[in-house]
Amino acid sequence: MAHPNKRAGYLFEFINDLDSRLRCPVCFMTLRSPFQTECGHRFCENCIKNVIINGDKRCPLDDTELSLQNIFQDVFCNRQILQLQCFCTNRNLGCEWTGHLRILEEHHKDCLFTEATCPIEGCNEKMLKRFLGKHMQEECMFLKQPQSFMEVGAQLADHEGLDGVMMLDAWVSEAL
Ligand SMILES: [Zn+2]
Ligand SMILES: [Zn+2]
Ligand SMILES: [Zn+2]
Ligand SMILES: [Zn+2]
Repeated sequence: MAHPNKRAGYLFEFINDLDSRLRCPVCFMTLRSPFQTECGHRFCENCIKNVIINGDKRCPLDDTELSLQNIFQDVFCNRQILQLQCFCTNRNLGCEWTGHLRILEEHHKDCLFTEATCPIEGCNEKMLKRFLGKHMQEECMFLKQPQSFMEVGAQLADHEGLDGVMMLDAWVSEAL
């Protein structure tokens, strides 16, 4: 069952201008899991399935009748899209990472420019991950005693699976 609006195309910022053929004519975003129709048009998997299951079952571009049997996954196009170079979605917060779309989600797990909540009991303060190490060692109002580098690293690692030591390294090298 395809959900309207859910998992529509990618809305990422690409380094190069996006080839208009890689844009979905339904959601106007970059094709996510592209499918090609019999009439040769490409859409996100969910966008075109939604037209077929919940919509008027016709190609939005040329009115060709469509069914789930005459649309096909476009593997080549998908590969092209996953190779696109894009910026991190936290670029506006200062992240300078760029890389293939394929590894963006992986980067997000480690990105120091996403919001995180302080894991110390009683404190729910939210801040960018890059400030969390310093906050937990020095600034947290709920800090009972000064914590060592390794203790903070271990707590960060327990919390949301963050790479605590990497985050502390980032903080320390920034402070130097
Ligand atoms: Zn779409
Ligand atoms: Zn068409
Ligand atoms: Zn990032
Ligand atoms: Zn705190």
